[in-house]
Amino acid sequence: MSKEKQTIHEFDLNVIYEYFSNVERQGPGSQEITLKALSFIEGLTEKSKVADIGCGTGGQTMVLAQNIPCEIIGVELWSDFINQFNQNAQNKNLHDRMKGIVGNMENLPFQEEDLDLIWSEGAIYNIGFKRGLNEWRKFLKQGGYIAVTENTWFTEERPAEIQEFWQKAYSEIDTIPNKVAQMQKAGYLPIATFIVPESCWTNYYSIMQKTHASFLKKYNGNKTAEEFVGYQRYEAELYYKYKAYYGYVFYIGKKI
Ligand code: SAH
Repeated sequence: MSKEKQTIHEFDLNVIYEYFSNVERQGPGSQEITLKALSFIEGLTEKSKVADIGCGTGGQTMVLAQNIPCEIIGVELWSDFINQFNQNAQNKNLHDRMKGIVGNMENLPFQEEDLDLIWSEGAIYNIGFKRGLNEWRKFLKQGGYIAVTENTWFTEERPAEIQEFWQKAYSEIDTIPNKVAQMQKAGYLPIATFIVPESCWTNYYSIMQKTHASFLKKYNGNKTAEEFVGYQRYEAELYYKYKAYYGYVFYIGKKI
């Protein structure tokens, strides 16, 4: 599509997605935490089928593929990310059993009881934790697993500034026991939860920070780009100030 034909909205999204496509992961995470979450999951074989929802360019999906023998499908809304995902899979010689497809987590292209494992790092917030757990459950086989990261409060109370920021940015943010209860109510046995270490956030923000200057230079004078970077910087600043109060938690459950 030529730039002239794009609406402002589409152009804005392109700018934002380009910013994220320059990094290996589009959210806080690491090989270590992917492997730690994977260590709670049993029974995967060559015949198992796994979906990674909101996979981005596939940083974590590659780690999964290198450590389990299953067929893996990455689902992602943004086609540029999927192109990169499939390129990465090819480069790592994993393309015979992993594939990225363009799709929407609100309308996943799977059959009921199709999957042995649903993975989603830093992405379920797009549909909402409760809705994602409830709607995706039908795609899992009985005894299948789900493993997701979700932004979570670490304390019962927190300073107003951070409370208000996240309330506005993601009103479903809640405490670990409340999230675990939601998982149980959605029909899963909660298997494990663990906090994604601070280093994942600081790595994520520092990589982002490195791309800010060149990004702003390229889009010199573009209001969307400036506002977007401004918002990213503010979010990072708040994280450093209030990291004792919130962060990502991995939730691993088993369909019962
Ligand atoms: N899992 C990756 C990417 C996390 S960023 C990682 O941890 O690095 C969240 C991703 O969800 C983005 O790539 C975004 O494009 C994707 N996304 C947002 N809404 C979506 C939807 N409705 N369906 C599928 N993917 C979606």
